[in-house]
Amino acid sequence: MADLTALAARLTDGSVQVIDLTSPLHSGTPILQLPPQFGQTQPFRLEEISRYDDRGPNWYWNNILTGEHTGTHLDAPNHWVTGKDKGDVASIPPERLIGPAAVIDKTREASVNADYLLDVPDLEKWQEDNGQFPEKGWLLFRTGWDARGDDPDAYANVDDQGSHTPGVSPEASRYLAGTGLLGFGVETVGTDAGQAPGFTPPFPCHEAVLGAGKYGLTQLRNLDKLPVTGAIVIAAPLPIVTGSGSPARVLALVERP
Ligand code: MN
Repeated sequence: MADLTALAARLTDGSVQVIDLTSPLHSGTPILQLPPQFGQTQPFRLEEISRYDDRGPNWYWNNILTGEHTGTHLDAPNHWVTGKDKGDVASIPPERLIGPAAVIDKTREASVNADYLLDVPDLEKWQEDNGQFPEKGWLLFRTGWDARGDDPDAYANVDDQGSHTPGVSPEASRYLAGTGLLGFGVETVGTDAGQAPGFTPPFPCHEAVLGAGKYGLTQLRNLDKLPVTGAIVIAAPLPIVTGSGSPARVLALVERP
């Protein structure tokens, strides 16, 4: 049987499951808050056009107001100055939006240290245990942070030192940039740690990964439902011409154990 025919049969019989890695989009969806001297993204909002009423008796529809980087979204290379010549979200070749997923789980570490940073030894240890990161695949960083996704305050975890959320060390960011991965996905509001504005360089994951022409994926959920290796991830951002990113539906195909 052809592979795609077999896949269709396995989707039908449920032996391949589709896991939704996407956070719901609504006016309470957490968004990044930058220090006040910088421009800010807006919350997601629906603006009703009509709802089976005088404005349109038989139909319901809305305008949507959103930032490009709202909810589960994809960062395109041109989001960062280091990747400004490496392409907008609309020009990403579609075959680069689908790939195998590797999941690195630091839930335990992040539960005791909200500022936990993925470091090079973590990346090396994962590969000793599981083989090389997949070529043209996604590395997904599981931290348990998705459990906070319906509570914007717990999700941002701000005190007088700023936000405390897990992320990636500058060294590990550069390491990721040198791999054959498509990109790096996280459960937090962005791919960098909450404290990353104060790192050298600031926001090192954005700097290195987008500068290498790779992508970021954020606010992922349900990474606990993925195997360490073996899932296929499909990330589908809108083709916003010249855009720096887009809300995305992110799905995973998983073989039922
Ligand atoms: Mn972003």
